[in-house]
Amino acid sequence: MPDLGRRSCGALTASDVGATVQLDGWVNRRRDHGGLIFIDLRDRDGITQAVFDPSQAEAFAVAETLRNEDVVRVRGLVRRRPAGTENPKLSTGEVEVAAEGVDVLNRSLVPPFPINVEADVDESLRLKYRYLDLRRPRLQHNLTVRHKILKAIRDFFDARDFLEIETPCLIKSTPEGARDFLVPSRLHQGTFYALPQSPQILKQLLMIGGLGRYMQIARCFRDEDTRADRQPEFTQLDVEMSFVDEDAVTALMEECIVYTWRTAIGVEIPQPVPRLAHAEALRRYGSDKPDLRFELELVDVAEAFAGTPIKFLQEHAASDASRIVAVRYPGGAALSRRDFDELTETAKSFGAGGLIWLSYAADGWKASIQKLLDDATVDKLQTATSSQTGDALLLVAGPRDLASDVAGKLRLHVGERLGLRDPEKFAFCWVVGFPLFERDPETGALTPTHHPFTSPAPGQEALLDTDPLSMRAQHYDLVLNGSELGSGSIRIHDPEFQRRIFEIFGLSDAEIEARFGFFMEALRYGAPPHGGMAWGIDRLAMLACGETSIRDVIAFPKNQTFRDVMMDAPSSVPVDLLRDLGLALKTKPPG
Ligand code: ASP
Repeated sequence: MPDLGRRSCGALTASDVGATVQLDGWVNRRRDHGGLIFIDLRDRDGITQAVFDPSQAEAFAVAETLRNEDVVRVRGLVRRRPAGTENPKLSTGEVEVAAEGVDVLNRSLVPPFPINVEADVDESLRLKYRYLDLRRPRLQHNLTVRHKILKAIRDFFDARDFLEIETPCLIKSTPEGARDFLVPSRLHQGTFYALPQSPQILKQLLMIGGLGRYMQIARCFRDEDTRADRQPEFTQLDVEMSFVDEDAVTALMEECIVYTWRTAIGVEIPQPVPRLAHAEALRRYGSDKPDLRFELELVDVAEAFAGTPIKFLQEHAASDASRIVAVRYPGGAALSRRDFDELTETAKSFGAGGLIWLSYAADGWKASIQKLLDDATVDKLQTATSSQTGDALLLVAGPRDLASDVAGKLRLHVGERLGLRDPEKFAFCWVVGFPLFERDPETGALTPTHHPFTSPAPGQEALLDTDPLSMRAQHYDLVLNGSELGSGSIRIHDPEFQRRIFEIFGLSDAEIEARFGFFMEALRYGAPPHGGMAWGIDRLAMLACGETSIRDVIAFPKNQTFRDVMMDAPSSVPVDLLRDLGLALKTKPPG
């Protein structure tokens, strides 16, 4: 068949009037009206209205059989829609195609959910029929934005002389704090590959390999317990550079995010992106990933309780290891006792022992510990927190980390209730100066705050013997709206220091050799100073699209229990496949 001018379903405008065209697409909707049949034809680009007139008998007869989601090819003449029937919501809304011929390319079953309207559909059904969900405008839009983000990132780094280098997916385990996915080897039975949690060691080896500037859009795998906003496989932008310091990496990555936001979604990020020291972020926002879309900073109010008769507050007021923190709730004095009870329950669900509330109503103050407070303390609290009449305060007292964490979560909760967490607002910040080590709350052992390849701040190496918990890392996080978008660091390039760090984490020489021998050896062959960063692309795309689940920016995601319900994975495999791998099952697969 000759090409009659194939157009997309979003292309035709008034300037095409008089042209004969061919459109391929899905039947979005059929309406029979006044003896005519109207078919809205849909593809990724948009929707075009085709009109079938009984005078074109053959085409009309076919049109009568069409159902939603049938796949058709329509030929016809572009003409202006009759005055008053234009549709300004469609890019093609000024015109229609007077159909002269139609081929049915395929028929469709009745879809399990409507595709032509933005109906609220149960997610498990959407995931089972993902290929139908993908036809809907929301996912088509999100995947388009995701593509633009990836293209912008690649263009950005290409223009700066970075090489995109693919690293393997079948590797030896590289620790990033989670469990590895393992792949059994058939040829070397009894041994396993690990899927990369990130290309961390490989990108460092690329620097040792003299490649200088590397980037990759990399698939990573972490076998974690299911969490609402996680996927067992995810996509990272991974970057590494040689001969750089922390400022050089963060400056470049900041330029990249500004360029990406501008190019992919047309939003200008104000610069410089604010930088917060880790300790400052905890003090002011109770989080190392603060949401800066709104203020409501935490205020330390221990001083107001200096002479308090309230025993547990006395203790916390006097101790450096504790905090008494106030979260201001603008307009909170209007809340009922029941609201405050709910807020107390919320605070408890965040781990607090309890919550003290205090409200500055026009007719005087009220508090959960009314009888224990006096006017002077209440005044001091009002001044310290710049509270107005009509506001309330939520007070949390406890060990420093716990009080910060609870107050930080309450701040977010208040922000949410007041509608201050606008998904169309983008507040980026850097968090820097993380501690190099943390204590594992269960075992008490030192663990890396980031990963074991992170370098301490310049000149702090000696503290490793005397006061490791006081060491700062050359580690930086990029945060957006309260979510961590990515982490990076300057790496250790001194093999001796790297060995000592592994030892601190409890690895013996033999374990270091078995797990990292190749890497330790590589460090001894002239490893340059280097550093880099990785961003979580799924989360980045989610926030750029104003979505609240990363599943809505991934074409084929796993569900919340990490199953692919469309393909039915993971699933059992035939016994002979296992035998070939030298494996036998101890647990019987379900079903
Ligand atoms: N590999 C790290 C991660 O996946 C990022 C980095 O340090 O570059 O979080």
